[in-house]
Amino acid sequence: MVKIPAKMRTYCKKCNKHTTQTVRQEKGGRRGSGLVKGTRRAKRHKRGSGNKGKYSKKAVSQLKMASKTSAKVDLRLTCDECKATWVRTYARARSVEIVKTG
Ligand SMILES: [Zn+2]
Repeated sequence: MVKIPAKMRTYCKKCNKHTTQTVRQEKGGRRGSGLVKGTRRAKRHKRGSGNKGKYSKKAVSQLKMASKTSAKVDLRLTCDECKATWVRTYARARSVEIVKTG
């Protein structure tokens, strides 16, 4: 169990200084915008019937998933001054708790 404070004082790219920022846990699959090139290519190849070559196999990451018992935690930080948000990768953890301080 990793406890993360609900507010943290860290650098804001937009304000170009340290500001107080609100922390929320980012749920998987929402990082970045749209699909990456590899995902688009796989989608194209997976249409129709027949052998899809390398796309007939499961992704290596899915086969090897059992070897890891923890996941990397993504945090969504919102600047309290300019309301800009971005995702920051935290550490590996089995479970995460966001704790309110003060
Ligand atoms: Zn800011």
